[in-house]
Amino acid sequence: MTRRRSPTDAPYRPPERRAPVVTAPTVVTSLTNPLVKDIRALALKKERERTGLFVAEGLKLVMDALEAGWRLTALVYGTKVAAHPATRQAVAAGLSAGARVIEVTDEVLEKISRRDNPQTVIGVFEQRYATLAALDPRSQTTIVALEGVKDPGNLGTVIRTADAAGASAVLLVGDTTDPFGVEAVRATMGSIFAVPMIRTGLDELFAYAKTHRLPVIGTHLKGAVDHRAAPWREPGILLMGNEKAGLPDDAARRCDALVKIAMNGQADSLNLSIATAIVLFEARRAHLKL
Ligand code: SAM
Repeated sequence: MTRRRSPTDAPYRPPERRAPVVTAPTVVTSLTNPLVKDIRALALKKERERTGLFVAEGLKLVMDALEAGWRLTALVYGTKVAAHPATRQAVAAGLSAGARVIEVTDEVLEKISRRDNPQTVIGVFEQRYATLAALDPRSQTTIVALEGVKDPGNLGTVIRTADAAGASAVLLVGDTTDPFGVEAVRATMGSIFAVPMIRTGLDELFAYAKTHRLPVIGTHLKGAVDHRAAPWREPGILLMGNEKAGLPDDAARRCDALVKIAMNGQADSLNLSIATAIVLFEARRAHLKL
């Protein structure tokens, strides 16, 4: 028997395929909002260690991180930029990544970033380290190793420089400053998402170099070799010393060569990140393409 059609019966149409429902972000004005407090707490190293999270400020950094596959857990943006297409793109990406997304006032943004002129988009991401064991030596170029780096600005600048020069990883040797601190992340200008970082010790570094027959070239104020004449070879390891003490004697003794950047004038040394840039670009000179 055929079903009788009522006058309002419309012809059957299959249900439309719709995009998943996207929950509208919450608007937060209160400085005591729990998520705002949690994000502010990430300024502390112990809180970053406890949660395994860190803050990246600025739309470019957030989009770079998402593109590189880093896991976003929270996204904050200012009311003033809520309607900008780029912000909307970040919000959509955040929501589809399952992140908590909140819109906030300027006052809240300033409180989160502890700055007068804060970035208008802030992301919270999961930290990520690579391991030496997983670093295939055959696919490495120059690996930059920093022994006991203490200054977050130096560390961030070295990571940015390593990225620009095409170095394949940055090793954080011994007791170093946290690369996921706000100042270090800012100084990387997004390169933190592009260069693998590995925490290791001096013994592990030299054992890795020995196992895979990689040369370790150290930089030292008493280096016997001019950095332009050093036996650069890839893959290889470039080892930089700490800002105050330089390379420990034990590490210097184990290097295959110690190089020096010739200097004139009164300065007794160069800033660590400047020295890394000079030596690293020299080490990679034969491989850099315009
Ligand atoms: N007082 C420290 C010393 O005696 O080594 C100075 C350390 S320097 C500020 C930090 C690091 O930058 C050094 O350990 C070295 O890796 C590198 N560096 C700075 N100037 C250098 C130079 N002229 N030649 C080679 N390496 C240099």
